[in-house]
Amino acid sequence: MHTRLVDAGTPGAPTLALTFDACGGPGGSGVDDALIDLLEREQIPATLFINRRWIDANPTVTERLVASSLFEIGNHGTRHLPLSVNGRSAYDIPGTVDAYDAAEEVWVNHETLSALMGRPPLWFRSGTAHYDEVATSIAIELGEQPVGFTTNGDFGATAGPTQVAAEVLGAPPGGIVLAHMNQPAGGTAAGVAAALGRLRLSGTRLVTLSGGGGTRP
Ligand SMILES: [Zn+2]
Repeated sequence: MHTRLVDAGTPGAPTLALTFDACGGPGGSGVDDALIDLLEREQIPATLFINRRWIDANPTVTERLVASSLFEIGNHGTRHLPLSVNGRSAYDIPGTVDAYDAAEEVWVNHETLSALMGRPPLWFRSGTAHYDEVATSIAIELGEQPVGFTTNGDFGATAGPTQVAAEVLGAPPGGIVLAHMNQPAGGTAAGVAAALGRLRLSGTRLVTLSGGGGTRP
């Protein structure tokens, strides 16, 4: 009989939200099947932030993820740009240039995800997870809550498994871990797998951003 590495957790124990970005675009449209398989096999709730370009490259996988009750789907933008009203860049990626551009960055993929899911996404994380204040309020007006992170789990999927595991295990109670699901050659899947045993021992409840999961089905 298969035993899950992470069980329902201890009632009242700290929660942890694992979030995985699918960034899309050139070099960013891969599918980390090992990670998705791990989450499904071990029944780990997670919030997946999916970019419009990744959806276009991976329509079948997207449908499967959207259909799963294990995952909550968030909006990772249309062109994967830092959300700004003046073009401010992050990591050398120029941001959206004005309020209209920022709204479009949120809204085009909002509509795509709404059609796929049958309901609008609740959460928004921009490409690079950078926002300015006005752009943040624009996303909220469009019905999506901008989300950052407490813990950089895989440093843009450049971290090896040991570092990913250490970051996940070092996340604060109630923390949000940002990692990636679009770089199958990275150490993310192996690192998350390596962290599961100690997460179980600590009683940590893994949840989606809306608080789903953490209860035994
Ligand atoms: Zn991204």
